[in-house]
Amino acid sequence: MYIRKIAILIFILFCSCEKNNKNQYFESIEYNDVKLSQPVEVEWLFSRKEKGQTFEQYKKSRHIVPTKKSNIIYIRPIGNFTFLQKKQIELLREYLEIYFQLRTQNLKTVSNTIIPYSARRIGNENNEQFLAGYVLDSVLKKENPLNRIALMGLTEVDLFPKPDWNYVFGLASYRDKVGVSSIYRLQDGKLTSKNFNVCLSRLLKISSHEIGHMFGLHHCINANCVMNGTNSLSETDKNSIRLCSDCQRKLNSCIKYNNNKRLKDLEKYFKNNNLLQEFQLIKKDLDAIE
Ligand SMILES: [Zn+2]
Ligand SMILES: [Zn+2]
Repeated sequence: MYIRKIAILIFILFCSCEKNNKNQYFESIEYNDVKLSQPVEVEWLFSRKEKGQTFEQYKKSRHIVPTKKSNIIYIRPIGNFTFLQKKQIELLREYLEIYFQLRTQNLKTVSNTIIPYSARRIGNENNEQFLAGYVLDSVLKKENPLNRIALMGLTEVDLFPKPDWNYVFGLASYRDKVGVSSIYRLQDGKLTSKNFNVCLSRLLKISSHEIGHMFGLHHCINANCVMNGTNSLSETDKNSIRLCSDCQRKLNSCIKYNNNKRLKDLEKYFKNNNLLQEFQLIKKDLDAIE
C-alpha cells in the first residue's frame, strides 16, 4: 500500500514536471512571435473577418488525434513529374515527417489518365486544369492506405474548384482528412535549380498549412504564422513557415511529440537544404529555449 502511494506520488510529480516544461517551452518561444501588420487591400485579412481560435476552443473542438491504428501521413503524387519535382516530393515527405513528428510516406505515383476528360478543362491561361473536387471524391476518398491519418494528393497539373473560378492552389475535405494541392503555380513556370528553394519553401508552407487544418487548426490571427490565410503566392511568400507559439501549443496537445526534438530536427532539415531564412527562424526558437 505504502509503495503504491509512493508510485502515485512519483507519477503526479512527473506529470506536473512535464506540464511545467511544456509551458516553459511555449512561453520561451512566444517572444519570437511576430505581430501581424495591418493588412493591405489584396491580402487575406483585408476582406475576411477571421475569428481566430483560442487554445481552449481548439481543445474543445472535434479533431483527429493519432492512435495506434491511425498515425501515418500519406502523399499521393498524380502526374508526370520531372527529376527536380520528384526531388521536391521526397523533400516534402521528409519535412512533413519532422513537422508533425509522424511517419510520412509517399505512395506510388499514378498517371494523369486517372482523371477523365469530364473532370478536365483548358483554363483561361490556355493550360490544362483538373477539377479539384473530382480528385478528392473519386480518387483520394476511395483510398485507404494502412494506418492513414491524413492523405494529400499532389498534382503537377493546375486545379480549378468550380467552373466560374480561374484556379485554386488546393482543396481539402477536413472531415475526410484528404486534400489535394497542385505544384503548378508554385514553380514560376518551370522548376529549375535556381528557383528550387523558393518553390520548395512554398510547397512546404502550403502542405503543412493544409494538413494543419486536417488536425483541426484554424487560420491564425495571433502572429505571422504558417496557419495565416493567404490570397496569393506573394502573400504565401510573405507568410512565415514557422508555426507560432499558440498554434504549436495546439498541435502539441494533439500530437504528443517532444518540442525540443522537433525544433532540432527542423533546424537540421533547413540547414541541410540551404533554406537560410527558415533556418534562422528556427535557430531563434532554439536560442530562446536554451
Ligand atoms: Zn487555410
Ligand atoms: Zn499561429
